[in-house]
Amino acid sequence: MLKVDLHCHSNVSDGVLAPAAVAKYARQAGVDVWALTDHDEVGGIAAARAAALELGMRFVAGVEISITWSGETVHIVGLNIDENDPALLRGLAATREGRDARGREIGEQLAKAGIHGAYEGALEFVDNPALMSRTHFARFLVQQGYCANTPEVFRKYLSEGKPGYVPHRWASLEQAVGWIQGAGGVAVIAHPGRYRFTQLQQGVLFDEFKELGGTAIEVVTGSHTPDQYPVYAQLANAYGFLASRGTDFHAPGEARVDFAALPPLPASVTPVWHDWT
Ligand code: AMP
Ligand code: MN
Ligand code: MN
Ligand code: MN
Repeated sequence: MLKVDLHCHSNVSDGVLAPAAVAKYARQAGVDVWALTDHDEVGGIAAARAAALELGMRFVAGVEISITWSGETVHIVGLNIDENDPALLRGLAATREGRDARGREIGEQLAKAGIHGAYEGALEFVDNPALMSRTHFARFLVQQGYCANTPEVFRKYLSEGKPGYVPHRWASLEQAVGWIQGAGGVAVIAHPGRYRFTQLQQGVLFDEFKELGGTAIEVVTGSHTPDQYPVYAQLANAYGFLASRGTDFHAPGEARVDFAALPPLPASVTPVWHDWT
């Protein structure tokens, strides 16, 4: 069976490895079909593609777009995109704008909570200045000993209601799906089990996504707990979505599940790659 991983990050967003190194990491874990899906950025695609082809993997150009839907941040993955599409590039640039200002504000909020120098400290972990992420703050707080690991930083400091949380308005669902489709790609709701929606809200999100032409939802992802795999497999079928699979890899040792241990999609779903030739 083909091993497919359609959700990975490099240091072009909030991963730690360069695109070619992520490709190597995936190949060593046995991946045959691989997508790089950096947040709001396609700057790593060319290097990732070259490395993937060299390693004998089929490469899928991807991106993970941050959107605001019903007041919450949601992530929409685009797969098989033309990474040079002008409207996509403009949309992603607009989405990245404001990340630095948000970062400075996160630094100020953390200072009020007694953690000083966090903006400068987080910047030390940033490889792409246009893409400062909360993950970079998390790595700084772990380095400084405030928390043992990044999930703990998010729990205590960086999620809504916590001292370092700064609300931010991202793209709209309609924009993200439009940019992806305009670039020839298919749109996928990333880790749907991670959002704090009621079942009713989640249903409305799925309906709107479907209506806009959305294709798939992630079912097996490193950002789901194993008990969520069958739940989202069933929902994919109920809504007529294809199913996607990806580790959501960011860094060796930072993963919630071991890269190579993520299970395949349940047999009941249709994989998003079923008709890729
Ligand atoms: P941002 O786009 O700057 O708001 O950062 C979002 C990123 O933070 C996600 O893509 C994840 O990499 C990371 N993240 C969010 N929540 C958590 C969590 N609970 N544990 C670990 N990482 C998280
Ligand atoms: Mn991330
Ligand atoms: Mn995500
Ligand atoms: Mn991701």
